[in-house]
Amino acid sequence: MKKGVTFPDALSTEKKAVSVARKDFPALFDSLRTNGFRILGPTLGEGAIVYDELNGIDDLPKGWTDEQDGAVYRLKKRDDEALFGYNVGPHAWKKFLFPSKHRLWLAEASANDLKITEEKQATQKFAFIGVRACELKAILIQDKVFLRGEHVDPVYQARREDALLIAVNCTQAGKTCFCVSMDAGPRAESGFDLCLSEVLKEGEHYFIVEIGSEQGAEIMTNVPHSNETREAEKTIQTIAAKTAEQMGRVMDTENIQSLLQDNFDHPRWDDVASRCLTCANCTMACPTCFCSTVEDVTDITGDHAERWRQWDSCFTMDFTYMNHGHTRASAKSRYRQWMTHKLSTWFDQFGTSGCVGCGRCITWCPVAIDITEEVRAIRESQTEAKPASS
Ligand code: SF4
Ligand code: SF4
Repeated sequence: MKKGVTFPDALSTEKKAVSVARKDFPALFDSLRTNGFRILGPTLGEGAIVYDELNGIDDLPKGWTDEQDGAVYRLKKRDDEALFGYNVGPHAWKKFLFPSKHRLWLAEASANDLKITEEKQATQKFAFIGVRACELKAILIQDKVFLRGEHVDPVYQARREDALLIAVNCTQAGKTCFCVSMDAGPRAESGFDLCLSEVLKEGEHYFIVEIGSEQGAEIMTNVPHSNETREAEKTIQTIAAKTAEQMGRVMDTENIQSLLQDNFDHPRWDDVASRCLTCANCTMACPTCFCSTVEDVTDITGDHAERWRQWDSCFTMDFTYMNHGHTRASAKSRYRQWMTHKLSTWFDQFGTSGCVGCGRCITWCPVAIDITEEVRAIRESQTEAKPASS
């Protein structure tokens, strides 16, 4: 880790709020660029709201929202010009911090030499704009996985240490959201450099900007703003309360670690396996899933070889292949592994849940398998099985 680098969650969280008029909002993009950031955020693409490079605020999904449910995602026009009036889409920020395909090194052979060159790490500073509370928590979880263990991942580290996180508080919840159950939203509480709350009311359109780090404060020095009053906190709380009421899903997490560990042979695993296609969509879309594999490729001459790391999934057959064969050969064992890891053994490994309630695995599962329903089914069968107290 670079000397002197601190991540936002380690900074003082004594926050100050300012307000920025919609007409002054482009100045935020200008300030980010002046400070050397490559701006990444939400934009329309592939029939969805995805994360990509933004050249300016015109690239934001102005006036668009989404409708989501199990195996359902549709773009829809809003009746206002909100810039952030949607919920999370198929992309997660991990695509920039932990790229889906990354060359680790290349080797070139000549008559008397073999030269191995390690891939250079990213040097450009990222500014992520539009990070939702659940996504912020997911990034902090991946920080634990990639940076806080015994082995630091250099690819993630190089990208993460200069990343500026601009959160946006959700003003609505989708039908697959359950961040409240996972204590991951809907308000971004910490871990950001700046946090925006978009306010559209009575003909006014402005942003309340909470400042969460010195770097965030520095960016704001170039953005016209006025100091906020106590009203700002009340407005943010009202937005959060309204969004929390709209959660489309709920998960009861009480004793969830033991619930899953005690039900290794529950018949529900056969039931879910009969529906699961083991397509791995859920793991690709999930903001905390981090499994990868390494592959070597050579050209036909044999003089040039490369080693690549790419995302993998506990749903693929090859993921646990060993010399004696596949460790998890059945769909049942693979789904059970995924869900039990997310909600139970992740605590043993990293001290937190592996799920932030973003709902992506429900929306993007082609057969609408719903992690909240699977937990409910196992939990309810336990309650039913208990003898009535006399
Ligand atoms: S749960 Fe759904 S998304 Fe995940 S592997 Fe099974 S079918 Fe695919
Ligand atoms: S398991 Fe599903 S709901 Fe939980 S963080 Fe991953 S994609 Fe989101």
